[in-house]
Amino acid sequence: MKAKPGPVAGIDYPRTYQEFERWFADEISCRKYLFQLRWPQGFNCPRCGSKTSPWVTARGYLHCAQCEGEISVTAGTIFERTRSPLKTWFAAMWFMMSQKHWASALGLQRILGLGSYQTAWTWLHKLRRAMVRPDRERLHGPVEVDETYVGGSESGSKRGRGSEKKQIVVIGVEVHSPMGFGRIRMRRIPDVKGVSLVPFVCDVVEQGSEILTDGWSGYNDLHRQGYKHSKTVLSDSGDPAHVAMPGAHRIASLLKRWLLGTHQGAVSGKHLDYYLDEYTFRFNRRASRSRGMLFYRLMEQAVATAPLPYRLLVQGNHNM
Ligand SMILES: [Zn+2]
Repeated sequence: MKAKPGPVAGIDYPRTYQEFERWFADEISCRKYLFQLRWPQGFNCPRCGSKTSPWVTARGYLHCAQCEGEISVTAGTIFERTRSPLKTWFAAMWFMMSQKHWASALGLQRILGLGSYQTAWTWLHKLRRAMVRPDRERLHGPVEVDETYVGGSESGSKRGRGSEKKQIVVIGVEVHSPMGFGRIRMRRIPDVKGVSLVPFVCDVVEQGSEILTDGWSGYNDLHRQGYKHSKTVLSDSGDPAHVAMPGAHRIASLLKRWLLGTHQGAVSGKHLDYYLDEYTFRFNRRASRSRGMLFYRLMEQAVATAPLPYRLLVQGNHNM
């Protein structure tokens, strides 16, 4: 397989807000952009497989010359059946990726002049959903895995008393030698038993990788799942400077700081998954300093993410 060349600034994505405004001035240019992203090798009719270039109808549909079907460029993407102009969606995505930390629904509502807070909130959640779902490339080792507790009162220790009201998040982070991190993955889990921890590792880390954990028994089955499991057991000195999994520990504190700064730490359980997705998306693309590049990456995933009805979105059915 030929490696896909990376996107080019000024050709594949706008470099500045001025350029963004020029590129996406109307619906036709937005649809053209989505078309390019969905069919970079040329059109391929989702109904009949025809590769003949479609023509565009007056209402903006693609008319397949072979099957005479009318196809919307937004069908099967998060923009499907939206009643808002694509231009507004694009602006929302640019806005979201321009925020250094996190885009609030209120901020989005104000900047785009959206009618309701609920609309802004729904849009941001739809976009968060696009942030991780299609990205299936697994981490490879060595990977540190550890759990952390989010929300609730700050007292109480790990895996112990006082953690009932908190939510448990398991973190996987690629550790580089001699220092630094690669990519991360996170998941909210109901408990710290092996049945919650081991499937997370199996889902997000390539088999055969080395998994680094502390001495917790919940990880004991990893070697049976084809991982090289290295345990670090620290003596109970109580010295907070010595943590068994420094990488995961660091990610956990960055996550908590991010959640605190943006939500005052108040993220309800069912929605935490979406915020974990957003955090992961941003963290794993932290080397992309340009907003345009982040915008492009988000757009790329948005056209590959099936829409989620509002009803399911508010229920927080993250894994649907
Ligand atoms: Zn067709």
